[in-house]
Amino acid sequence: AAGPVGHQLIPIMNRLQDVFAQLGSSFSINLPQVAVVGSQSSGKSSVLEALVGRDFLPRGTDICTRRPLVLQLVRLESSLDSSYEGNEEWGEFLHLPGKRFYDFSDIRREIQEETEREAGMRKAISDKKIHLKIFSPNVLNIALVDLPGITKVPVGDQPSDIEARIRTMIMSYIKHETCIILAVSPANTDLANSDALQIARIADPDGSRTIGVITKLDIMDRGTDAHNFLLGNVIPLRLGYVGVVNRSQEDINVNRSIRDALVFEEAFFRKHPAYHGLSHCCGIPQLAKKLNRILEQHIMAVLPTLKSHINAQLVAVAKEHANYGEFVESKDGQGVKILNILAKFCEVFSSIVDGKNELLTDE
Ligand code: GDP
Ligand code: MG
Repeated sequence: AAGPVGHQLIPIMNRLQDVFAQLGSSFSINLPQVAVVGSQSSGKSSVLEALVGRDFLPRGTDICTRRPLVLQLVRLESSLDSSYEGNEEWGEFLHLPGKRFYDFSDIRREIQEETEREAGMRKAISDKKIHLKIFSPNVLNIALVDLPGITKVPVGDQPSDIEARIRTMIMSYIKHETCIILAVSPANTDLANSDALQIARIADPDGSRTIGVITKLDIMDRGTDAHNFLLGNVIPLRLGYVGVVNRSQEDINVNRSIRDALVFEEAFFRKHPAYHGLSHCCGIPQLAKKLNRILEQHIMAVLPTLKSHINAQLVAVAKEHANYGEFVESKDGQGVKILNILAKFCEVFSSIVDGKNELLTDE
């Protein structure tokens, strides 16, 4: 089954964290944020939920996401926290410190209520973030951001410049060089006019951190398909596209599970001749895989800097010892050992990324 995003990277991050723990310092790897952009009801919240593998976000045909939701996944380790046992997962909001939500439908209700507290009942939006942490033994420490969709005609209490305001809000997240952009476009609209691809291009002109996601492949006009689009023949994108089938509104109404939805999605692509031969760019598991590859590359890219930081710390410690004028087989000896571990780790990691190690192959 498709694990949550980054699932396959957990063993690697565990090993890295062991190395850092031995150093007894604050070294860590900050993974990039992942944000979803696109027009309203394009399926952004559905895609994020499927990637996390849990049901907890408000979704629907109306405007649901009216405040940015910063979702921080936090990996639990029983060895570090004695109060933690077993396989429990829970959510915690910044605005309700100390309160643990074990039932994910309560999390969804709290997101809705907190949205209404800040932005009212009448469809207005607010750029004040909701911070939600999900604690779980099965996740990577990564932040995912769900954003309000681009909308053009003001409704309810929305101001006349609603479109400009939402665009500014989206840009404030995706302009950062470290943000990975999931540009979500529904396949049942004119893909060449995608709001998502347009705003992503403004933030990331060379497309080095934008993944195109095409949703709703199941409800395209009869006789049409997204084959050419997925191949990048219409609007080329360096990191390419992934086509997905999320749960429909009817599925949401009858509480269809994520697991069932993934089975349905797999069957859809298997049966649809237009997508034969395109399995590398079809389905939520492929999207998770693509994201993982980008995260791996990010880790690879920051390892040399980490190494030189550790080196610098070693030199400082050695100097300190020299000042005492005596030989102490302690910290610097240990530091050299750790550097060796790290060097070896880099080697192993490169081979994993090159696909020479089984650690990362799919289940
Ligand atoms: P958002 O506004 O971009 O966050 O979109 P949502 O995730 O809330 O989805 C909007 C509506 O589209 C909901 O009713 C979803 O059930 C529906 N939807 C999303 N993705 C798909 C899909 O791939 N296929 C179908 N049939 N419906 C979808
Ligand atoms: Mg949404």
